[in-house]
Amino acid sequence: MTHYHTLIVGAGYAGYSLAKELRKLDPDRSICLISSDSADYYSKPLLSNGFSKQKNASDLVQKTAAQMAAELHIEVWPYCSAEQIKPELHQVLTNKGLIQYQQLVLATGASPVKLLLPAATEGLVWSVNDLADYQHFLQQSQNKQKITVLGAGLVGIEYANDLAAAGFQVSVIALEHQPLAQLLPPALGELLQQQLTALGVEFYWGASIKDAQLAQQQLHLQLTDGRNLTTELILSAVGKAKAAACDARRDRLRQRYKSGSDSGNFSR
Ligand SMILES: Cc1cc2nc3c(=O)[nH]c(=O)nc-3n(C[C@H](O)[C@H](O)[C@H](O)COP(=O)(O)OP(=O)(O)OC[C@H]3O[C@@H](n4cnc5c(N)ncnc54)[C@H](O)[C@@H]3O)c2cc1C
Repeated sequence: MTHYHTLIVGAGYAGYSLAKELRKLDPDRSICLISSDSADYYSKPLLSNGFSKQKNASDLVQKTAAQMAAELHIEVWPYCSAEQIKPELHQVLTNKGLIQYQQLVLATGASPVKLLLPAATEGLVWSVNDLADYQHFLQQSQNKQKITVLGAGLVGIEYANDLAAAGFQVSVIALEHQPLAQLLPPALGELLQQQLTALGVEFYWGASIKDAQLAQQQLHLQLTDGRNLTTELILSAVGKAKAAACDARRDRLRQRYKSGSDSGNFSR
C-alpha cells in the first residue's frame, strides 16, 4: 500500500490548483493526485470552442499528466478511480490498489444531468464534460449536418455558436424563452438571439422533447408544444449534478469536517 501526506481525487481545475498552492507552501509534502480520466491538463471552456476549428481532444491538452507531475513534484495517477473511501482508516480503495493518506481532498467536479428521453434517441444524445466526451462527440458529428442542442445556458449557447460557426445546421430546444435566461436581462438575451439567428441557429423556446422516431438516420422530434423538427444528433447541455462516484461518502465527509470530528478529509 502506498502512503501520501495529501491525496487529491480529481485532475480538474480544482485538483491541480490545490496541488499547485500546496506545493508552494510546502516543498517536501508528498502529494498524490489521482483521476479517473487521463489527468491531462486543459481548460474546460476550450471544450466548447475548439469545435469550430475541428480540433482533436489532444490539441486541447495544455500539459500532459506526466508534465504536470514533473512540474509540481507530485505523483499523478491517470485512469485511477476512487471506488471506496474508508475515512476511519484514512484509506482510499482505487482500481489500482489501496492508498493511505493523512489528508484527503475530493475535487471530483460534477457530472452532466442525463434526461430521460424517448428510446429512438438512444446513442444519438451526447454531453461534453471532458476531453474523452469531446472526442466522442467530434467523431459522432462527422458526416452529420443537423445538430440539436438541448439547453440554452452557458454551455448550450457556447456550443450552438461554435457548431453554427463550424457549418452545422443548429437548433436549440430549451424550457426558457431566451438564451442565458439566468444570466442576461431580456434585452441582452434578445440581442444574443439575433446574433445566433444570423448564424442560422433556430430556437424552440418553452419546450422539451416529447417523442422521437428514427428513420433513415434522421431523428424526427416531436416537442411538448406540438412543434416538430428533424435532427441527426443531440447535444445535451441541461446542467450538471454532483459527480455520482463517492457522493454519499463526500457528503458524510463534509458533514464530519464541518462538525470538527475529522480534520484529515476535505471536499470542495
Ligand atoms: C463545455 C464547458 C464549458 C465551460 N465553460 C466555462 C467558462 O467559460 N467559464 C467558467 O467559469 N466555467 C466554464 N465551465 C465550467 C468549469 O470549467 C467547471 O466548473 C470547472 O472546470 C470544474 O472544475 P473541477 O476541478 O471542480 O471539476 P472537473 O474539471 O470536472 O474535474 C473533476 C475531476 O475529477 C475526476 N473524478 C471524478 N470522479 C472521480 C473518481 N471517483 N475517482 C477519480 N477521479 C474522479 C475526473 O476525472 C476529473 O479529473 C465549462 C464547463 C464545460 C463542460
